[in-house]
Amino acid sequence: MTESRHTKVLVVGGGVGGYVAALRAAQLGLDTVLVEGDRLGGTCLIRGCIPSKALIHAAHRFAEMGELAALGISAGPPRLDLAKTVGWKDGIVDRLNSGVAALLAQAKVSVIAGWAVFSDAKTCAVETIEGPLTLTAEHVILAAGSEATALPTLPFGGDVLSSTEALNIPDSPKHLAVVGAGYIGLELGIAFRKLGAEVTVVEMADRILPRHDAQLSRPVRRWLDRHRVALHLGATVTGLDGEGRLAVATGKGERLTVAADKILVTVGRRPRTQGWGLDAMGVEMDGPFVMIDDQCRTAMKNVWAIGDLVGEPMLAHKASAQGAMVAEIIAGERRRFDPAAVAAVCFTEPEIVSAGLSPDAAKAAGEDATAARFPLSASGRALTLEAGDDGGFVRIVAGRSDQRVLGIQAVGRGVAELAGEFAHALAMGALLEDIAGTIHVHPTLGEALGEAALLALGRGLHV
Ligand code: FAD
Repeated sequence: MTESRHTKVLVVGGGVGGYVAALRAAQLGLDTVLVEGDRLGGTCLIRGCIPSKALIHAAHRFAEMGELAALGISAGPPRLDLAKTVGWKDGIVDRLNSGVAALLAQAKVSVIAGWAVFSDAKTCAVETIEGPLTLTAEHVILAAGSEATALPTLPFGGDVLSSTEALNIPDSPKHLAVVGAGYIGLELGIAFRKLGAEVTVVEMADRILPRHDAQLSRPVRRWLDRHRVALHLGATVTGLDGEGRLAVATGKGERLTVAADKILVTVGRRPRTQGWGLDAMGVEMDGPFVMIDDQCRTAMKNVWAIGDLVGEPMLAHKASAQGAMVAEIIAGERRRFDPAAVAAVCFTEPEIVSAGLSPDAAKAAGEDATAARFPLSASGRALTLEAGDDGGFVRIVAGRSDQRVLGIQAVGRGVAELAGEFAHALAMGALLEDIAGTIHVHPTLGEALGEAALLALGRGLHV
């Protein structure tokens, strides 16, 4: 027999968007049900942000063991047991997954394990382990996330991996081909290079990290060149040849093959809109994404959508922020999603942080802006971290007349941790003087932001 249940708030998807929405709704006293078909934590916790950063950290530790001689430290050659590394990574994932379950239980969110399939905007069926269940709700929050995009010429399977499989392989490939030089492909490609794999990157655009400006991506390009990562830019993958080698058409009309034992395809992610009845819900689409307004309302009354399902930037912290906001609006608060900046980090070597407008984006937006760059080679802290010689810098972009900060970006080892200060400055509507007048702790990388602001004001001290 099919059980039925009605709730005030029904959240579909227990990723970082959905579980935060459910948690916040329950905290606000709303009767809340969360349906998750796979594992709580979604892409980010289970097969995205966290496992990739664990692998990147392990690869960094492995690589640095071979690079300690300049510091007067010597040790035997490092050996890798990748299965053990993957086990360590899985331990972190399991811990966070149970942490999310505990938080939801504590907040009295009712979590239902199973896939929701909608028959209309407010009704879904879930096949649970106890039997079929029909759920109806006053408000539905869609947080179904995204999935890796496959290339028609190179479907996933066998040695052709998505990021999910790449994060779970027990042996490091001898030769890894990475198709797509966006942040996910380069983060993982660099990690495997550090673990000793030969790496070849194939990218359709004429440069790596095409979403970042050339100044920011140049130090990463330099690292790839120095570490003999083969790059084929402006090149298209046409499939596998008869011997399982990657077939590539270069921009110059040449054809070549790459004999890799694993091929990682990271050509983008697409919203998960198929197979769960979205078309029966009366929402409207914006290209491949669910269309929303600035409160995450869809075209259907009391159906909300958040996270990767609704478009770029496809980032965990954006999904969570939207989730919390929607819960608060349902509870009667007045909220709007209009952040001054959703900062983004590439955990490449070196790292890139980008918040707000780049100089080019400011120009395109019609701003009369000024920009200043402080090189990390002039930062004492960067030198003590061996981070001064990779071409890194902190850059600040501000309105020429009002000195309002429009954007802050950085590239360099360890700069990811500056993302919070960058986003904070933009969220507070900081002026250059606010940043220049903040006493930054010495010696820290954060001083470079203060110095960049001083430079923009024409009062640079350390360059
Ligand atoms: P998801 O996390 O995808 O969660 C959606 C959930 O919904 C899933 O658990 C799914 O099982 C469930 N679901 C879907 N349909 C149904 C249904 N019908 N019924 C029940 N359950 C359903 N972002 C960052 O900000 N920083 C990073 O460093 C970063 N690194 C990444 C690295 C990799 C390798 C990848 C792949 C992604 C990375 N991301 C990163 C992106 C980030 O993971 C996503 O932006 C984020 O997970 C989106 O959250 P979400 O809640 O919208 O969707």
